[in-house]
Amino acid sequence: MKIYNTLTRSKETFKPMKENVVKLFVCGPTVYDNSHIGHARTYISFDIIARYLKYRGFSVFYLQNITDIDDKIIKRAVSTGKDPMDLAREFEAKYLQDMKTLGVENVNFYARATEHIKEIILQIETLLEAGFAYETDNGVYFDISQYPDFGKLSNRKIEDLKVHRISPDSNKKNPEDFALWKKKNDPPTWDSPWGTGRPGWHIEDTAITEEYFGPQYDIHGGGLDLIFPHHEAEIAQMESASGQKPMVRYWMHTGFLNVKGEKMSKSLGNFITIKELLTNYSPDVFRFFVLSTHYRSPIDFSQEILEQSQNSLNRVYKFCETIDELLNVENFTVDEPAPEESSPHKNLLETVENQELDRLLKETKLKFQKAMDNDFNTPSALSLVFDYIRSTNQIIRQDEISQKSLQNIKFFFNEISDILGFTFSSQPKKSKDHREEVLVDFIIDIRKKLREKKDWELSDEIRSRLNDLDIILEDK
Ligand SMILES: [Zn+2]
Ligand SMILES: [Zn+2]
Repeated sequence: MKIYNTLTRSKETFKPMKENVVKLFVCGPTVYDNSHIGHARTYISFDIIARYLKYRGFSVFYLQNITDIDDKIIKRAVSTGKDPMDLAREFEAKYLQDMKTLGVENVNFYARATEHIKEIILQIETLLEAGFAYETDNGVYFDISQYPDFGKLSNRKIEDLKVHRISPDSNKKNPEDFALWKKKNDPPTWDSPWGTGRPGWHIEDTAITEEYFGPQYDIHGGGLDLIFPHHEAEIAQMESASGQKPMVRYWMHTGFLNVKGEKMSKSLGNFITIKELLTNYSPDVFRFFVLSTHYRSPIDFSQEILEQSQNSLNRVYKFCETIDELLNVENFTVDEPAPEESSPHKNLLETVENQELDRLLKETKLKFQKAMDNDFNTPSALSLVFDYIRSTNQIIRQDEISQKSLQNIKFFFNEISDILGFTFSSQPKKSKDHREEVLVDFIIDIRKKLREKKDWELSDEIRSRLNDLDIILEDK
């Protein structure tokens, strides 16, 4: 299995530190607003990575932090008149609900920053004692001049930090030094050896990962925009605190989700929330859209592409439905003795076709695994599935298939469904929309009969109540 490592800029053979146990950490959300579909892309990608690692026999511990203390949270709370902690809990609950709806269900533990203040303080103390950090009037800072490797993940220079970072502070040793602890008096604050205050953002991740994983672990993931300076800062903190390198074996980053060539983000105001998306499309459709592009590549979001995803997905549903129907037909098996009148030629053909079917399935399974083994190449894995459906449909149209072969196909689609997080296997036969249509037709039918019986009162009531639901009936 190969994984692209941002740190070495190459695909490397994946080998966890401890036999088959994978420790995976992914940067979680800052809970001050609704999550948008750019976030969803990242979390669906890592959901599939976790699913596939499990499928390949690894035991995965997937940890995510929740940034529930941040200037953005406080700012939003002040502007809405809410308590910052209440606001954080509200958006955390919404985030978790969004993830649940999207089928992102492999995170073993969500660690809130505010519940790890003790660990954060301990790590800052270690850095202070070892001479990697220093205290000023307004906080504790990481001394970037003590860590010459800074920039190794992004291949960027310390000087670049200037564009990212805040106002110059004359108390700091280097203008690029970042805060580990901010001295503050306005709530919410926590007590520390340096007075009341709040933790910096970068230290949150390393304090949490050290607590659950130790100073070194297998995979750290996140969006591309987090590489610099966030992940660089993490490496500097953890490797300085522990003296052990590397902090993380494989750094994995997801590409941006773009709208008309621009990255979807809160600051650009071009975002669609997960909730908005799901009012029009099913979680499967969005997942399909995400998987159609490799997780490291940029992905362009548009209405048209979602429609395309829906159409492609419908072909898979349709295929699974066909298989289910064939499986349900009784006595539909070539394993039974052939009736007298059937020609020996036909019998021979059936056997050959079924062999072809089994061979095709075996081959597709292997290729599917090969694609996923190659840095989780989901677009390639998906296109294999469509090739498979096309070829299998041809065979099914030509001849009868044994129940055994059909069961194997069904099993394969259940497996894919599990690995990629779809609901192929549990997809209801008729969509909700369709059921609604049938129901409305049914009511209209009844009303028609009532009118034939000249029950005007009841038929008018039905019309008016349908009207309330924005279903307008016109009697000709
Ligand atoms: Zn991190
Ligand atoms: Zn993070």
